[in-house]
Formats: sequence, structure tokens, C-alpha cells
Amino acid sequence: MISIANLFLLTAPRGMPLQVISGRGVFTKDDALNLIAQAQGKFPVGIKVLEARIGGIEPAAFTLRETLTSALLQDDVETQEAKALARMAVDEVCGTRICQKCKGRGYNISNWNGSAKQVLCKRCYGVGHILKTSLELAQTISVLLKREVTEDVFTQMYYDQYMDCVNQLWQESGEAERECKRLMRLWREVA
Ligand SMILES: [Zn+2]
Repeated sequence: MISIANLFLLTAPRGMPLQVISGRGVFTKDDALNLIAQAQGKFPVGIKVLEARIGGIEPAAFTLRETLTSALLQDDVETQEAKALARMAVDEVCGTRICQKCKGRGYNISNWNGSAKQVLCKRCYGVGHILKTSLELAQTISVLLKREVTEDVFTQMYYDQYMDCVNQLWQESGEAERECKRLMRLWREVA
């Protein structure tokens, strides 16, 4: 069985050029494109999340930001706020969450006092990836809106809508993932 990651890496511009051999057949880039197109008919948003997150496909992230923005506008969110929240939610779900300081290991090597030893990563607190705090989210939206939004204001005014967007993206990508797996099983049966 081909993993979801490999499925989307096969079709990514900078992805693997190789075909993945699976079971009895060879799964080509064209097979992957066909399968993704089929799943996209049912789960358009979820497929875009997988393309953006795994394949690093920027037009997919762009489409997601536009989709979330228009949904927020229909919820009577102001244009600038809608664009900012959409960008933040897409970054949260599709951006790289690996801690750049420790490269996801959760610790760094310290040479203090001449002897090398492992120390807990101070940036991600040993988690290996970065979860944004509400203070950081407030700072991000301040930059995007070009005015100061305090942590309290962010929590009261924007947090629910932001989390709705984030949760929606995770949920739809989960559904799209299940659909891709189902289609891959079908492909294997006829190959
Ligand atoms: Zn770290």
C-alpha cells in the first residue's frame, strides 16, 4: 500500500521522480494524479490541504486561503480580519510545524564547559514542533492587520473563528485521506 505522503509526493513539483512499486503493479505519477482528481471531486478542500501540507504546493494553499476567507466574509467578518484569520489557519495546518532549532528532535547539543551533552530544546520545549500560543497568534494577527491586537482581544474576538477554520481543515483533510486510501485499495484490486 502506498502511503498518503508518497501519493502526494509523487505529484508534487519537487517530489520524487520515481514510481512507487506497490504489490503487483507499478503506481505511476499519472495513477496518482488520476486518483487525487477522483478524490478531489468528493473532498475538494481536504485534497487541497493534503497537497499544500505534504506536497508543499503553494497554489493549493492559496485556494484554501481564498475558500476560508469567503466563508468568513459570509459570517460577517471584516475583509482584512477574514484574510488574516484564513492565512493563519492555513499556515497552522499546512505550514511546517517542525522546530527549526532542533529539527524536530526536541533537544540540542550543548558544548558548554568543553563537554558535549544533550539539552532540552528551549524553543519547542522538547516537543519537536511549534504550537502557537494565543500570545503568538495575537502577535501574528497584529502584524497582518498592521495594528495592535492584544492576547485578550484575540482570545475574545478571534480565537473561536480561528479554531473553527483550523478544525475544519483538519477534519476535511482526514476525510480526503480516507477517500484516497479507499481508492488506492480499489486500484490495487484491479492492477
Ligand atoms: Zn525544538
